[in-house]
Amino acid sequence: MSLLEIETLEVRHGALTAVRGVSLSVDEGSVLALVGANGAGKTTLLRAVAGAHRPQSGRVRFDGADVTGLPAHRRVKLGIALVPEGRRLFPGLTVEENLQAAAGKGRSGPWTVAAVLEAFPILQPLVRRRASSLSGGEQQATAIGRALMANPRLLLLDEVSLGLAPQAVDAMYRSLDALMASGNSTVILVEQDLRRAMAVSGRIACMLEGRLILEGASNALSRDEITNAYFGLRRAPEVAS
Ligand code: ATP
Repeated sequence: MSLLEIETLEVRHGALTAVRGVSLSVDEGSVLALVGANGAGKTTLLRAVAGAHRPQSGRVRFDGADVTGLPAHRRVKLGIALVPEGRRLFPGLTVEENLQAAAGKGRSGPWTVAAVLEAFPILQPLVRRRASSLSGGEQQATAIGRALMANPRLLLLDEVSLGLAPQAVDAMYRSLDALMASGNSTVILVEQDLRRAMAVSGRIACMLEGRLILEGASNALSRDEITNAYFGLRRAPEVAS
């Protein structure tokens, strides 16, 4: 059953239409990788789902309810959590304080500071360190942990490996893999590394210039098909424009 349904969504930044008539549904317990070149509209789409950016037209339905008009904090309460590009932690607060700051903002559920530390072992020795003193990978783990503290039903991850050292990316994905393999989380993940995106997801969606141009099961699409869609080399037949 679909947890999220996006219907002909149109999102603008002033005169620029960043998301053009995108329709997409995401099943409960599934992982969707959203790929596409810089400026394709991936961040804008995630922000519209999270309620951080109001669409021009179209609908966002979550668990059957129309949430299009709801502000971001109300969507967090319903179980939609965004890990934004750039992390946006409170730099002067410790890891623990950053995590605690999100407690009670979302739903009640199993996620606590202790559960986050168990899921992200690299944070264990750092709980009392200020976020500003952490490496990029440690900050990213904290940002994901903060989103989990809201006990989301839908986790939106925007380029969580951006700018991280390969080892830090591996460590983060070890934790994310366990989370996603549990089947309890529904995840939309923007990931530039196609190999990684294909490996972790059940489905892949590719955007080009604001449109969704390819969508399908990750194990049914070839790397070439996705790369062609990514660069707009050939219009893929799977999704009508
Ligand atoms: P990236 O991988 O670079 O983050 P993206 O696929 O996430 O790209 P968006 O960030 O959603 O793409 O941007 C889509 C389009 O909207 C781009 O043309 C971008 O320049 C434009 N855009 C994004 N944010 C703003 C903004 N705050 N004001 C004006 N235009 C914006």
